[in-house]
Amino acid sequence: MKWRCLLIMTIFLSACQPQVVTSTALPPANTVEPTAAPLPTQTMSRTSQQPTQTMEMPTSTTHAFRVCCPLEEETLETLPSILVNPLVIPAFGRDDGHHGLDFSYYRRGTRESIQGIEVYAILSGTISLTLPDEIPYGNTIIIETPLSELPGPLQDKLKSLYQPIPENVQYQGECPEISPPTLTENLSVYHLYAHLENSPSFQKGDLINCGVQLGTVGNSGRSSNHHLHLETRLGPSGADLGDMAFYETKYTEAQRANYCLWRMSGYFQLFDPYLIFNAWLADLTH
Ligand SMILES: [Zn+2]
Repeated sequence: MKWRCLLIMTIFLSACQPQVVTSTALPPANTVEPTAAPLPTQTMSRTSQQPTQTMEMPTSTTHAFRVCCPLEEETLETLPSILVNPLVIPAFGRDDGHHGLDFSYYRRGTRESIQGIEVYAILSGTISLTLPDEIPYGNTIIIETPLSELPGPLQDKLKSLYQPIPENVQYQGECPEISPPTLTENLSVYHLYAHLENSPSFQKGDLINCGVQLGTVGNSGRSSNHHLHLETRLGPSGADLGDMAFYETKYTEAQRANYCLWRMSGYFQLFDPYLIFNAWLADLTH
């Protein structure tokens, strides 16, 4: 039976605001029978106005599209001013380049350091993997958001960048044989938040709303100063990502294989998080 739900939305700014974790994408209340007239979809606002917005509630597996700033006291518009290390995408099989965006500062306004600044989810999704403080990522959270939950033009853009998965990859370094993920017709965005201050408190499978606090900016893992490393990849949906680590002989073959699968195999392909940010900023309908 198909339900239509009426959701009374509090309006969110693109500026970072902590949100709550939900255990379900469907609201427990505000459920109404379908009305005769179709409700508008994905009508949300970032303005400071407080209109009551109505929208067609998605099914339990989808979320209304929304993009949130990953850092407290910043906005999507101010992030470029604290970008200290840009994305540099290496060739398949290579682990060089820089696999994400680094945001940091030593002093900003009245803030002495970025240490302890809250880190938020940029998209709603499901916890795919959490990592303890290991090399190189440190305390880390990876969230999966199905590509189908993004606006059509953004889906098209990201799919156009996804290259055929390469065969016979020549790996940089000593990678054990990887176990390829199960391929489906569907792709997902995986967004990774690294070097967090503390061990993640989430579990695989937890549903996360855009803007939920994931932790605070730290210096864990292979990091020389406090910063947020934000990494976005497109890869097969529902991937069962395992514990990953590299560069230390103490790590297991499975950890190294998962690391190589994630970063070098070509199944999970890097793209610039700004493709998501700019799609949201350019969409004036919210
Ligand atoms: Zn980085």
